[in-house]
Amino acid sequence: MTDVKPDAAISVRGLRKIYGSGPSAKEALKGVDLDIPRGSVFGLLGPNGAGKSTIINILAGLVNKTEGSVRIWGFDQDENPRQARAAIGVVPQELNMDPFFTPRAAMEVQAGLYAVPKRERRTDEILARLGLTDKADAYARSLSGGMKRRLLVAKALVHRPAVLVLDEPTAGVDIELRRSLWDYVMELNKAGTTIILTTHYLEEAEALCDRIAVINHGEVIANDETSALLHRLDGKTLIVTPATPLAAVPALPEGATGELRADGALAVSYSRARLNAGTILSALAAEGVQLLDIATEEPDLEEVFVDLVRHG
Ligand code: ADP
Ligand code: MG
Repeated sequence: MTDVKPDAAISVRGLRKIYGSGPSAKEALKGVDLDIPRGSVFGLLGPNGAGKSTIINILAGLVNKTEGSVRIWGFDQDENPRQARAAIGVVPQELNMDPFFTPRAAMEVQAGLYAVPKRERRTDEILARLGLTDKADAYARSLSGGMKRRLLVAKALVHRPAVLVLDEPTAGVDIELRRSLWDYVMELNKAGTTIILTTHYLEEAEALCDRIAVINHGEVIANDETSALLHRLDGKTLIVTPATPLAAVPALPEGATGELRADGALAVSYSRARLNAGTILSALAAEGVQLLDIATEEPDLEEVFVDLVRHG
């Protein structure tokens, strides 16, 4: 993964981040490589403390990286900081905002920061789309948590970024807002915006994302199309050593596939959702296969981890 893909929405190479120094130094990212395709809905999944926000905040220019390179919409963050910044809008995890700004004022300030010309500003339109018209002139401190979250999304959109990043947008958000937020985000995606979201809910990533990268302890431990990732999670392999060599793969229950290995073992792959080892062993017994030994192929660390995230 050393060759940079210039046509990726985001391309990250060898990204490291060390917070602090000396004995209290914390290596939050340990050399992350990541390519996020344009037009995708990309999930960064991982438990608390994995390093998701650190990646996002580096993309947003809010945290300085220790090492590595970041390209946003083809622009290197160090060589073309202005273009790189203009291509991305970030909805931060923290709900921090100036309590004395009204949503309208906050939007105008943000538009100013991104040098959006007055005639190109769409403050009212964006606020309306996020259901904040009634609150456009209210102080931010009078907004509910959900409204603040929506205002953060609105602010991230003022400069029409090609890439919208949402960092744990639904943590502590009620079901209804969650749904309307996702509807809106998917609409933006259909209109061409690349979406990156972080979450520690696999279900959420599963429902929304085309691709998912799993982050743990500052490293990418899986990065795949959502369907492939789920397929891998569900698959299990039973290794059977027959007492006498098999000439062919015996009949197996529906949903299981067998393969004779060079060492004479029979590897049976099956979906945990549909079958279990007991069913397969009974089927083999019914076929007259005598077993010398059985083992299951250990799921790899990634799977164990993803399982933990799902069930934990
Ligand atoms: P996530 O968003 O996946 O929960 P973070 O990126 O927030 O993870 O944190 C990754 C690691 O870096 C954690 O161990 C966290 O404690 C540490 N960390 C994050 N921000 C800081 C900071 N400003 N100073 C020191 N350590 C930090
Ligand atoms: Mg975070």
